[in-house]
Amino acid sequence: MTAIAPSIDTSALWSAYVDQAYVDRLRAYAREVVAPEGERIDREDIYPVEIMKDLARNGFSTVVLERELGGAGLTYAHAVAVCEELAVASAAVGISLITIFQAQTMIRSFGAESLKRRYLPAFAEGLLSSYALTEASHGSDIRSLDTKAKPQGGEWILRGEKHFITSGSAAEFFIILAETENGVSVFAVPRDVAGLSIYKGANSATWGLRNGPHMNVVLDDVRLPADHLIGVEGKGVRQAVVVLNHSRTLAGAISLGVARAAFEGALAFARDRVAFDQRVLEFQGIQWYFADMLTEIDAARLLIYRAAGALGEGEQIARWGSEAKYKACAVATEVAARSAQICGAYGIMESGPFGRFLRDAKAYEVAGGSAEILKNTIAKFLLPVAGLGGGSRLT
Ligand SMILES: Cc1cc2nc3c(=O)[nH]c(=O)nc-3n(C[C@H](O)[C@H](O)[C@H](O)COP(=O)(O)OP(=O)(O)OC[C@H]3O[C@@H](n4cnc5c(N)ncnc54)[C@H](O)[C@@H]3O)c2cc1C
Repeated sequence: MTAIAPSIDTSALWSAYVDQAYVDRLRAYAREVVAPEGERIDREDIYPVEIMKDLARNGFSTVVLERELGGAGLTYAHAVAVCEELAVASAAVGISLITIFQAQTMIRSFGAESLKRRYLPAFAEGLLSSYALTEASHGSDIRSLDTKAKPQGGEWILRGEKHFITSGSAAEFFIILAETENGVSVFAVPRDVAGLSIYKGANSATWGLRNGPHMNVVLDDVRLPADHLIGVEGKGVRQAVVVLNHSRTLAGAISLGVARAAFEGALAFARDRVAFDQRVLEFQGIQWYFADMLTEIDAARLLIYRAAGALGEGEQIARWGSEAKYKACAVATEVAARSAQICGAYGIMESGPFGRFLRDAKAYEVAGGSAEILKNTIAKFLLPVAGLGGGSRLT
């Protein structure tokens, strides 16, 4: 059995949807800085602190943040390109970026000016963040929460516990949803505030999307200044959904990166592996597998860059973001499984990369909006056209 290290450059297949020079820079960065660490980050389940700080220095974690706040001031399509290209090397780096983008989007979209000035420039300096919605009893359904926030003496006091918090092991800043007497609300919470602690819970370790355990975050009478309430008290679910609609497009891009990595690995194997006196890639049945995969990846890419355009124009972002994530995550799982199949036993070996691709792809069919919740959102755009009412307002 020859264990063949994947080595092939498929970049010519993936045309750039933003300026080629930017994509070339990203690809070189992903290859030289991220790829050598991709397998280790997953195996050891660690948050890639050094890489994330370096991404900030390169402007890759502040892609759409305004230049006057220290950001790169580019488009959502550039943010998609960043997630796609880096996730070819490591989906863990991709999800570490997503939680940073989520915090930025929440503050840029809804935060008070004082909050924007205080925290947004810090992201350009490498501030690491998490986005904390989920609780033990609330995942898809966050209309009510067990984490509570009460006003007291011009401050907010938060009490409760969050579960499954991606990037929580390294986050220096949290966006946290808590329920006030007027409904679910959103808060900006620095890591070093008194009363906040994190721990690795019984369910924190996952077998996919491993960038360090998905931590439990405990809020034990955490006191926050009044302006750390983000947006409107009681409108937190709507605000969270707006942010998720942004990050779902980026999550789709990460899945796309995983699909491309699997495709590339399988293509290299099929080109080099000989069976029945010919290269595996010369079997028509195998070529058809690749034709199917290429078509599906291309379709998902078109949808994702369409969704990025919608984000820039503020047009039906719930629909496009949900379609983009739904399609790309399903394609990634399918491509990862098919790629492993093409590689025979090498596809199943622990020393090969396909287990990681498959685990990351599958995990993203749940995390950040499950396939079912995304279909609920997409269906909401159908019902009015059919003359019927909308579905759930929340998903
Ligand atoms: C790797 C990973 C990382 C995560 N990171 C974070 C994070 O950083 N921050 C955070 O807050 N959370 C995070 N989560 C939690 C994640 O957002 C939730 O797991 C997700 O929202 C689903 O919630 P749940 O697991 O409670 O499932 P449930 O909501 O209990 O759903 C169970 C099943 O029922 C389906 N379902 C639920 N409601 C409906 C409906 N209305 N119609 C049809 N089907 C439905 C779901 O799709 C799912 O299949 C993470 C999860 C994972 C796996």
